Amino acid sequence: MRRERRIKIIATLGPASSTPEMCAKLFQAGVDVFRINMSHTQRETLPERVAMLRALETQFRRPVGILADLQGPKLRVGQFGGDGGAMLEKGERFVLDSDPAPGSAKRVYLPHPEILSALEPGHNLILDDGKIRLVVEKASPKQAVTRVTVAGRLSSRKGISLPDTTIAVSAMTDKDRSDAEAAAEAGVDWIALSFVQRPEDMADLRKIVRGRALAMAKIEKPQALLRLEEIIEASDSIMVARGDLGVEMPLEKVPGTQKRITRLSRRMGKPVVVATQMLESMITAPVPTRAEVSDVATAVFEGADAVMLSAESAAGEYPVEAVTMMNRIAEEVENDSTYRSILDAQRAEPEATGADAIAKAAHEITTALNLKAIAAWTSSGSTAFRLARERPNSTVVALTPNRSTARQLTLVWGVHAVVTKDASDIDDMASRACKFAVREGYASLGDRIIVVAGVPFGTPGATNMVRIAFVAKEHVDQA
Ligand code: PGA
Ligand code: MN
Repeated sequence: MRRERRIKIIATLGPASSTPEMCAKLFQAGVDVFRINMSHTQRETLPERVAMLRALETQFRRPVGILADLQGPKLRVGQFGGDGGAMLEKGERFVLDSDPAPGSAKRVYLPHPEILSALEPGHNLILDDGKIRLVVEKASPKQAVTRVTVAGRLSSRKGISLPDTTIAVSAMTDKDRSDAEAAAEAGVDWIALSFVQRPEDMADLRKIVRGRALAMAKIEKPQALLRLEEIIEASDSIMVARGDLGVEMPLEKVPGTQKRITRLSRRMGKPVVVATQMLESMITAPVPTRAEVSDVATAVFEGADAVMLSAESAAGEYPVEAVTMMNRIAEEVENDSTYRSILDAQRAEPEATGADAIAKAAHEITTALNLKAIAAWTSSGSTAFRLARERPNSTVVALTPNRSTARQLTLVWGVHAVVTKDASDIDDMASRACKFAVREGYASLGDRIIVVAGVPFGTPGATNMVRIAFVAKEHVDQA
């Protein structure tokens, strides 16, 4: 089984996609990576969910990627007295303070001392997903006096976002720490951290995960954009989390920001995911809007590694149709006559490493000779990541002895990973590369393919060999 596109599809699990049968249908329709949203998942159920998804690997004989997404610090105001809320009128004063007493139209408890300490005059506060806005006039560690700029009724435990304030605590809550440990222990492939503000937040996540999974930074706070390059450097992958990003910054700034993040991630060779509301109307309708189709297409043209479905697959009425639609859009765009030139406009020059120089050479050879496959022997996956950074014309067939590497690569642009035992020598590398290229449908008798490897095999970061191999009758017979 192989995909006819390079970009990958992530689908979020939820009530609409909780059975093995539904997950099998979604996988068949095109899902490469399943996302488990820890905001709505009991960590005790992780081993059982992971086992259900791993069973698909046996059924389809393909690696299945699993991404656990940590909730992050969702900030909320305290409780109100009376009927549980109060009307905040435009131009009036409103105080957020450290007093747990029930709130009123004059004030409410803010159960986050770290926010009160970090607020400064002029900072904006956005409440209830953007419905109400306040601006800070006076701030102290005990209270912040604000002015209402957008009026609305505020009620108990509503979310609060702080587009202008960097909070001096880690992005990880106690719940996130326990969830990260449980996810790593359950054997997921990727763990995403929400509301990342600083590269140090990713270091905190890595301390818990300790190499058991790769780390993804969700960019959904304007503060993260100030240190974007360092955050990408500190992460294995990036998500353009447009849902919260669109609450924390003006909506019209989101598309340009998406372009900045996808470009920089591509340049740095880190897989980048475009997420949220991609086919939103398909939560309740079997066909998307024209605008949604265009939005998915934009991410494909940008060369993103993956596009993601959220409620469409987790709680919608048409999860399979949504995946099918995404798959169709991706295939069509990648075959469009304008695609290559748009994709190549953002192509990054190789960095001064053997792996990058070889990736570029492999790309140039496949283009010059019009070859369909680059077979890459990789144990950590890094050779495949660097090849994907080139966005080559031909599929990267990653051959790895590590099942976890194959699973991690399900998120990476243009990579088709296969688990097989280590190659014994250079001839074995070439001959088994040909065999797998045939078996997986990327080459046939008489074709040539490119083989990339590090020799001696298994030395991380030692990509140093590129070779053209001919597919002979014996390879076809073995496949
Ligand atoms: P969420 O993250 O779905 O976990 O909120 C994605 C986003 O904010 O876009
Ligand atoms: Mn979010």
